Amino acid sequence: MTRSSKPILPGATVGVLGSGQLGRMFAIAARRMGYRVYTFSPDTDTPTGQVADLEVVAAYDDLDAVRKFARDVSVVTFEFENVPAATAAAAEQFAPVRPGGDVLHITQHRLREKTFLSQNGFPVTPFRTVKTVENLRAAVTSLGLPSILKTAGFGYDGKGQTLLTSLAQGEEVIAGVNGQEMILEAFVDFEREVSVVAARGEDGSFSHWGVIENAHRHHILDLSVCPANVPPEVTREAVDITRAILEKLNVVGVLCVEFFLARTGQLLVNELAPRPHNSGHLTFDANITSQFEQQLRAVCGLPLGSTQLLRPAAMVNLLGDLWENGEPNWAAGLAHRDVKLHLYGKMEARPGRKMGHLTALAETPEKASQLARQARDALQDRTI
Ligand code: AMP
Repeated sequence: MTRSSKPILPGATVGVLGSGQLGRMFAIAARRMGYRVYTFSPDTDTPTGQVADLEVVAAYDDLDAVRKFARDVSVVTFEFENVPAATAAAAEQFAPVRPGGDVLHITQHRLREKTFLSQNGFPVTPFRTVKTVENLRAAVTSLGLPSILKTAGFGYDGKGQTLLTSLAQGEEVIAGVNGQEMILEAFVDFEREVSVVAARGEDGSFSHWGVIENAHRHHILDLSVCPANVPPEVTREAVDITRAILEKLNVVGVLCVEFFLARTGQLLVNELAPRPHNSGHLTFDANITSQFEQQLRAVCGLPLGSTQLLRPAAMVNLLGDLWENGEPNWAAGLAHRDVKLHLYGKMEARPGRKMGHLTALAETPEKASQLARQARDALQDRTI
């Protein structure tokens, strides 16, 4: 493999592993700048495939297909971090993979991720590895209740996690997971959840979009607001921690750090996502350079763009539930002039499925949140 430090310029082809909405918004940014985009996933007519130059349909463990894909592109990035490590390794034989397969390996497994963070001195809630009922008893004794039991691998949007209020509840979970490795985390009494989306260039340059505040419903991100309502010292600390994580992992690309801001004022890292993140969708409309364009610039070895915030912004997710009584009232939602609609081209609206989002811009973050929520409510207005 040749790792050239020469930039990959417009006209070149960028490969994306994964084919969801993150890849779609990446592909839109890349095509706008004159790149070609190939996407690779097991699905057809995907959110990314609909806007890419080529949609390659193959299983992630079809390593011959992965090698062919990598041979045809100048660089490989991803929008879905749960691809097998062997897939990234196969791609790396023919094209640079950014961020690298080692970043993927750490961040796709909660236990590896938390271990990496704590061993490198980053603040995390106390945790224990749990494989057996005996491990669980010892872990509950030391971390106390309530605590949170999570599967170690392949979890997202709160899938594979249980809030334990009794040991018996945990024993039931352990009995049902067939020896699968789990992680028990001490419960964090948090005041807010915030995230920092950041990018690192090939030359070590760093940029970020400040602190974004996130509210979840049923474990799924519901609302993101920027700038977050936190004191300047919290912003400084969150950005410093994020920068140190990107440097330690030697990330080239975009990575999001999700934090808990505990009631004690302490910041704790909850999770890392080595790609653009749902909380950064508002950067598409609210910042000079979006997280998607920055991912492109970083993985292509180009200078990073300005992340300046143009106006305070809020984003609300549009889940499949909104379609329950028929097609949402788009005209009513768009009656608010400072609201932007993004839809991901998904044909089937299932409850909990991310179908799109709205971004609202206003003079203050509070007004932006209010406007985003109002616009989403208007989508359900069947009277006009
Ligand atoms: P995760 O999938 O780990 O990001 O968790 C999804 C959501 O569950 C988080 O955004 C929190 O709202 C909640 N959560 C996860 N871990 C903890 C914890 N240790 N303490 C309190 N709440 C948590």
